[in-house]
Amino acid sequence: MEEKILTKLFGLKDSHTIDVYLKHDGYKTTRKVIMEMKPGEVLEEVKAANLRGRGGAGFPAGVKWGFVPQNIDKPKYLCVNADEGEPGTFKDRYIMNHDPHLLLEGIIIASYAVGIHKAYIYIRGEYENVALRMEKAIEEAAARRYLGKNILGKGFDLDIYVHRGAGAYICGEETALLESLEGKRGNPRMKPPFPASIGLFGCPTVINNVETLSNVPFIIQNGAGKFTRNGLLKDGGTRLFGVSGMVEKPGIYELPIGTSLKDIIFKYAGGMKKGKKFKAVIPGGMSAPVLTADEIDINMDFDSLVEAKSMLGSAGVIVIDEETSMLDVLKTIAKFYSHESCGQCTPCRIGNAWIRKIVERIAEGKGKPGDIDNIHRLAKNMLQKTLCPLGDAAAMPILAITEKFRKELESYIGN
Ligand code: SF4
Repeated sequence: MEEKILTKLFGLKDSHTIDVYLKHDGYKTTRKVIMEMKPGEVLEEVKAANLRGRGGAGFPAGVKWGFVPQNIDKPKYLCVNADEGEPGTFKDRYIMNHDPHLLLEGIIIASYAVGIHKAYIYIRGEYENVALRMEKAIEEAAARRYLGKNILGKGFDLDIYVHRGAGAYICGEETALLESLEGKRGNPRMKPPFPASIGLFGCPTVINNVETLSNVPFIIQNGAGKFTRNGLLKDGGTRLFGVSGMVEKPGIYELPIGTSLKDIIFKYAGGMKKGKKFKAVIPGGMSAPVLTADEIDINMDFDSLVEAKSMLGSAGVIVIDEETSMLDVLKTIAKFYSHESCGQCTPCRIGNAWIRKIVERIAEGKGKPGDIDNIHRLAKNMLQKTLCPLGDAAAMPILAITEKFRKELESYIGN
């Protein structure tokens, strides 16, 4: 039986309330940290756990925290990325809905480790109920003195605010998120400088994903060693795999990092819906390159997916069956990215728009010889030539589909 780090309280009645959280040892780690530990000790433990970011990029959280300059005469901020705009991804919503105090506890501990006194939860606009739930949880925690001034009487202050986005995918990119939080249009910034040195309001800022921070209480309470042993391979801990598409039991599955993709689909998610044949899977949210039936005997960890020329990303597993047209999949991807491009870089703005036009034309039965080559060329031209990762995020799945399903795509084009 796998250990549950993040979903322990899921399914319990009123799991979102502070009473239920406290009954299950909630805020015990906050007490331990604030009463007994020095900030540097917390930081070292998280570094030792090799807690890699769960939002997509997989950058180790402890290392990120360590980049924030100390001894600086400026406030420092923590921004929680709860934008969750990647299609096929719905895990953070589950954490905030079922166990909002777990996230709050992660924020408190991270803030203590880095010396932060103000944190923002940037939440996607569509998650209205979840935003209200987080606000209620903040109120409850403040009433019990886990937030606010002089937490637990030990002189540490922290306020947390919920900030709702307006539904732009690009605001999940960390610098666009900062712009949006500052009240501006959510356009990504040039990097460097990185947010750890110049972030929100020009001050040092840590940006972490919801799932990433929600692992922190377990790490500090149980030690980095126990956390690491929860992963099957090099990466420690579990992941929330969000399985959607043509499976019998779509949903969120908390499993050790490194669990086989085949098992996730056929054992945990109940296999293909109505016994249909498996065709392909997008393993890590829509921007992850698609894998075919021959490629799913693979461990779901960061390095194995990179080796397979895909990525673990947000661990949103989208399963595609034999009856789904890959042209439809391509059309959905092209439409999404052309709509979400912020327009600052020409390859992304123009490339996505052209790919969409060509794919839609093929879908209308007006495809021409050379169309697939043109889509491929336009996508290739976006790779690593843009200001933010959206260019790559759009290009990678389009390249994979045009390479692996070329024959099928060409079958939609008449001669
Ligand atoms: Fe905007 Fe696309 Fe450039 Fe990112 S890559 S900054 S989304 S135009």
